[in-house]
Formats: sequence, structure tokens, C-alpha cells
Amino acid sequence: MNDRTFEALVKKVQSYNPKFDIEKLTRAYELAESAHEGQLRNTGEPYIIHPLAVAHILADLELDCDSLVGALLHDVVEDTDCTIADVSREFGDSVGIIVNGVTKLSKIQYTNKEEQQIENLRKMFLAMAKDIRVILIKLADRLHNMRTLKAMSEDKQREKARETLEVYAALAHRLGMSKIKWELEDLSLRYLDPVAYKEIADSISQKRKEREQYIEDIIATFRQKLSEIGIQAQLMGRAKHFYSIFRKMYAQNKSIDEIYDLFAVRAIVDSVKDCYAVLGMVHELYYPIPGRFKDYIAMPKPNMYQSLHTTVMGPNGIPFEVQIRTKEMHKIAEFGIAAHWKYKEGTSGQSDMDEKLEWIGKILEIQNEAVDSDDFMRTLKIDLFADEVFVFTPKGDVINLPAGSTPIDFAFAIHSAIGCRMAGVRVNGKIATLDYNLQNGDIVEIMTSSAMHGPSRDWLKICKTSQARTKINQWFKKERREENILRGRDMIDKELKRIGMSHSQLFKPEWVEKLVLKKYGFHTEDDMYAAVGFGGLTVNKVLSRLKEEYRLTHKNAEAALVPLTSNKKKKSSGCGIVVEDIENCLVRLSRCCNPVPGDNIVGYITRGRGVSVHRADCPNIKAEEKLEAGAGRLIQVYWEEAGAGGSAYLAELQIASYDRQGLLAEITGMLYEMKIPLSAVHTKTTKDQMAYIYITIEVNSKEQLEIVVKKLSNLGGVFEVTRSNA
Ligand code: MN
Repeated sequence: MNDRTFEALVKKVQSYNPKFDIEKLTRAYELAESAHEGQLRNTGEPYIIHPLAVAHILADLELDCDSLVGALLHDVVEDTDCTIADVSREFGDSVGIIVNGVTKLSKIQYTNKEEQQIENLRKMFLAMAKDIRVILIKLADRLHNMRTLKAMSEDKQREKARETLEVYAALAHRLGMSKIKWELEDLSLRYLDPVAYKEIADSISQKRKEREQYIEDIIATFRQKLSEIGIQAQLMGRAKHFYSIFRKMYAQNKSIDEIYDLFAVRAIVDSVKDCYAVLGMVHELYYPIPGRFKDYIAMPKPNMYQSLHTTVMGPNGIPFEVQIRTKEMHKIAEFGIAAHWKYKEGTSGQSDMDEKLEWIGKILEIQNEAVDSDDFMRTLKIDLFADEVFVFTPKGDVINLPAGSTPIDFAFAIHSAIGCRMAGVRVNGKIATLDYNLQNGDIVEIMTSSAMHGPSRDWLKICKTSQARTKINQWFKKERREENILRGRDMIDKELKRIGMSHSQLFKPEWVEKLVLKKYGFHTEDDMYAAVGFGGLTVNKVLSRLKEEYRLTHKNAEAALVPLTSNKKKKSSGCGIVVEDIENCLVRLSRCCNPVPGDNIVGYITRGRGVSVHRADCPNIKAEEKLEAGAGRLIQVYWEEAGAGGSAYLAELQIASYDRQGLLAEITGMLYEMKIPLSAVHTKTTKDQMAYIYITIEVNSKEQLEIVVKKLSNLGGVFEVTRSNA
């Protein structure tokens, strides 16, 4: 066991920051020691052991002074007479905020809940914490409690272990702190399923010798090859942690022998270029298992994890996994967000800091602009869920709503019967207005009355969620049918007037029956008007089909229809496509030919799934054009003007080449340099020394795609690059 004394803590912090404020740390330790005086942990040891151990865990992550002071004091407000005001006065506001946050989070009750509830709980944690250091202390606090869980009753052990797995380990994962995550998971498993834990531990130790030898042989081969191509790499066997073995064995019903990545090698290199070079070397030495290559360097995981993963068939037909990453990526993989907050001794130049900010900026809101390394952490606040708010029902269920939601949204989120009968609301025990802005952690109680005759139309303006709006609309639809029919007729008449046509020209009973009622499932014409009246069906939807029919039967009268279309704006569909004459329709890019901007394209009106966009030369479209029925369903579509979207499009390429060494590495390296994400790759070699490499990449225009194709074609050995079609 490590030396967990205060003296050892001082030594540890001085080793990574000689200028660490030892005086402040000492005062915090003395306050914690006297505040917890006489208290014992369940293990029978003096209480101070716990905050001290928590501070040690954070010092191992090389965190700043306020984090460690916060760690030492994290239980004093909860368990002793000391107040937040005392802490702030003695150690500054920043420590006060941290200790307050930790204390507040301890109050969130965890009970065994459904998955959605647990996800909400995790988010609520983050939303309430505000300062990421609060979460780091909470994680270290839980880690130490799990390490000393033996002293608890068996029931308590299971309860804590479950909570750890579902809330804390998941949080550590989200923040990319895999070292802490693994330990939390393994400790949880030990209490949740002691039998499985022992079984895995035993079978791993049985095979340890054999496995170590196997990995050593592979590493020796790698080392030899690497020195030939002149690449420096740190190579090591990677031990898979118990919980992930457990998950694979039980969730995928596999025996321990069937788990590929029990055997794993990790290579840590100096540069990204070297990563791809090592990948190429590995694939030349061993046959890659299809579908197991993942490029998390070009496409980092949401928690910023970066690495290349591949699984290859090793000696004796035993597959093994290889992970390749740079030193920097490795640090982030182990410590996640904490890696970016480590104290760095006077070395952090501006560019280094910019990089950090960019990384964290993706998940955090940065409050102050000018930050130097010393107050870097102080100025970072969590706002991961700025657009969501988490509130409680009186029973303690967490309800997750968009930020800015009101009690009306809350009521309809629970049940429309409650929403429709809502007479008032209590928030945290006090009467509130219906337009009150719900805050994280509010306890909301809806008061209902049977005297209420449904929602008010004004609520539509107050509510924020589409769920509430839909339910209110539904109520009006049902309750106000007559009103809606009149309104619907009126809306249609107004539009007819605007386009200069009469009701009798368009509303021929047989057309209405065939084109509108049947299509939308209405029984009567009144149903249709009612739907238009309450907003369930747009006027445009009703009229466009009738106008089309009119146009077809009055070919010569087309001139009369010109004003109908001329003032219609082309509207964007959101995926970079403009559909002629149709607004707000569902548009998707077809999977069979993956069009990219610049391609000639055509739209096809599907049954019930909107318009699918194909390349004009797509064989599926060509086939459709020949069919009588198909012709009427093709529609003109355009690419939106450049610069508007910036969306990415998938394109699949087939590269035919002579089978030569290093080609795959050259291709992935080239794409990396062009900053073009690679989302899939698989290869096929034939007996006559040919190789076919299929890659799927993300491009944002046809021009970009053409450049890629050209560059690929120029690689040595490649003789054809084609775009896959259907
Ligand atoms: Mn604690």
C-alpha cells in the first residue's frame, strides 16, 4: 500500500509543482483533522484517513491546489459544525464553491431506477456541479469509498456498487478518465457478482504465463520490424480489466477463450504519422480481421479518446488487438479531462494552452477569455447540459426537459390528463406561476382540479416542448371540432383567393376523395377541414395535389397557373438539398449511390418516407424512369448554394491495385493529411497479386472527392479508383 500520510502528500505535490502552496494545503489539513476529530470510519480508522486518501488520488492526477484543499475539506460541512461561509473565508471563494458543490451532490438520492432515470441522474450531476473539480473530487471520494467497502454490510455493499457502476463509472467514462473508470468498474463487479469476479480472476491467472509469453513473442517481432523501418515506439502488453471481460462473457455469451482482445499490444509513438506507419507494419505482418479496424485518430470518440485499433490474426491462429497512439493521446486516454488540467511547470506556451482550450471547449463552456496556466482550472465551469434542465417529481423521479421549460411542459411530460386538468403549481413547496422557468433540482408538484375544462390557448405560447404543444393541440382538435372545421375552410378559401382559383375548380369530389381523403385517412371532407383548422395538415398539402391534378387535366391552361409557383420560394430541407415546390418535406440522401454536392441529382417521392435523392445516373433511378408508374414520382431537386451547409457526405471508393506492401498505410496517411475522415475500410486480395481496397470517406463536395480520387490514383501500384455505385 502506498504511503498515504500528509507528509507523503506534500512530497507528491512538490514533485510536480515546486511552487505548490504548501501553507494553504497544511491549513486545510489541520482544519479537516480538527473538524473530524473523534469521528471514526466504518473500518474503525480515524476519519481523516478518508479525505487524505481522496487528496492523494487527485495528487496522482497532478491537480491544482484548490482541488486538493477541496478534497481535504470535502466532508467537513456535511459532517461537522464547520460551514461553507467558514471555508470561503479561510480558503477563498473558489474552494467554497467546490466544497459547496460536493456537499450538494451528496444529497442527490440514488434509488434503483430505470435506465432513462439513471441517465438523467448522471446529467443532473454534471449540470449541478458547475465546476468540473467538484466531479473530480466526487469521483476520487467514491473511488476511496469503494476501495474500503469491505467494512460495510452486504446490502450496503451491493447498493453502493450498483450506484458506482451506473452513475460514477459512467461519468468517469464520459470525462475520458479511463483509469479511474476501470478501477471503479472492477471494484463494483467484485461486490455485485463475486462468483463471476473470482472465475475471471482465476482463469486469467491460470493463463497468465502462457499469455505473457505469447505477447512477448509478438512484441519481439514488432521491435525487430520497427527498428528496420526506423520508428521509435514504446511497446507493451495490455491487461484487459475484469469488468470488460465480464461484460463480453455475459452480455455476448462468450467464453473467456472467445474474447479477442484478451491478448493486446499497445504501441506508443512520437507522432501521428508514426501511428499510421505502425499500423501499416502490423497489417503487413499479420492478416487483419475484417471489420475490426477503427480509426479514432481521424474520428475521436466523444470523450476525445484517440487511437488506432485493429485486430489481427496472430501466430497459432490466436487473434490479438493492437492499439496505436501518440504519447499525448495516451495521457488523455488514461486521465481524460484531468490530463488537461495537470499542473505544468512553467512550460505552457500559448499554443499549448490554445490546444487545451479547444479540447475542453467542445464539452465545457469557458467563462473567462484570458487564462494562464495558474488560474486555468479556476475559470473553467461545466456547462455540458446548458440546454437541458432536470427537475424532480414529488416522488423523486427525475424529469429531463429543455432549458427554459415551464410547469406546463412538466405537467404534460408526466401525463396529458394531468396537463389538461392543471389548476396551479408548487415549486419547492411554494406556489409558482405557470410561466415559471424551471431550475435544476426543483421539486415540482402539479395541482389538478376536476373543475378545469382543459388547457388554455395561451399555454401554447408559454410551453417550450413539442410534447406539450402537441398534446394541447390534440385536446383542441377533439374538443373544438366545429370551430376547427370553420377555421380550416376559411384558411383554404383564403389561399384559393390568393392564387386566383375557385373552390369548384379544384375541389372536384372524385379528386378530393382520391388525392386527399384516402391518402391521409379521413372519412369525410369535414375531417379534412378540421385537420387543417387545428394545424395537423397544412393548406399547402391539400392544395398541391389538387393543383397538380388540375394541371394534368388542363395542360393548356398552364399559363393560368404560373402565379402559383412563381412566388414560391425554394426552401432548404436541411441536408443541403432544395426540393422544387415542396416545403418542409423529409429529404434524405439515398444509400444506394451516396450523392455528393456537384453530382447531377434527381428526387424520388417515396411512399411515406419523403423524397430520397439519387444521382441522376443511379441504376435504380434509371430503372424507375422506365416504369410508367415511376415517372410521375421523380421530382427536380437541386444542391443548395455552397457555403450554406458544410454538411458531410459519405462516398465509397474502390481502389484496385497491385498487392504491395505499405499501400494501406499510405492511403490512410494521405487521408489523414487531407483531414478527410475515414469511416470504413476493408480489403480483399486475390491470388493473382491484386488488391481491392474499399474505403468509405466523408467529403463535403464533389470537387473534394475528385481531388481524393486523383491523389489515390497517383499512388504507386494503383491502377484504378472508382466510385461504388449501387
Ligand atoms: Mn467523502
